[in-house]
Amino acid sequence: MAEKSVRAVFPGSFDPITNGHLDVINRGMKLFDELIIAVGRSPVKNQLFTPEERVEMIAELVADMPGPVRHSAGEIAKGVIHKLSNGAGVSVESFDGLTVEYAAKKKADVILRGLRSLTDVQYEFQLAMTNRAVAGIETVFVMTGEQYGFTSSTLIRQVASLGGNLSNLIPKNVHNRLQQRFHKLKDRN
Ligand code: ADP
Repeated sequence: MAEKSVRAVFPGSFDPITNGHLDVINRGMKLFDELIIAVGRSPVKNQLFTPEERVEMIAELVADMPGPVRHSAGEIAKGVIHKLSNGAGVSVESFDGLTVEYAAKKKADVILRGLRSLTDVQYEFQLAMTNRAVAGIETVFVMTGEQYGFTSSTLIRQVASLGGNLSNLIPKNVHNRLQQRFHKLKDRN
């Protein structure tokens, strides 16, 4: 019997993507045949990067992942799947509206989410139960590496706005963009 291939969607705000998110992505890639990183477009207060910028930063990171087939960040941003050496495909795109509707449109089998601490569990539990009740989709959780247990995009934005050194917590391309963004904002004020 042919083995079923499993497609997962990893939804989030990713404003910006951190090493914690990347840790979840790397763990997810070992579990699933295909992983779609999905940047939510829903308008929320205090967003620093546009959905396009967030997709672009993630696409640059995906393009750097080891694997036999390489595509440019632009191609990946357009939805080209990057095939990795283990056969897993990872891609990134943005989406509007309900995560469960997007997951159904993509024919995803599961939603992937990351857990940092017990504080995350309560909210994530509610979200997963709601998604299962309304759409019958299961959520798979992975625990982040201990070193990222305290990393959140919100804190990264705050520390970056004050000029703190974040090199251990975010990828270099994200660090550069944050610096550019805050220089621009300072120049404006
Ligand atoms: P959302 O607004 O949907 O929570 P986030 O970008 O904040 O979007 O988070 C997306 C997912 O990544 C969530 O499951 C969140 O718990 C997880 N996550 C965020 N930061 C980390 C981290 N440092 N380690 C592991 N998982 C994380």
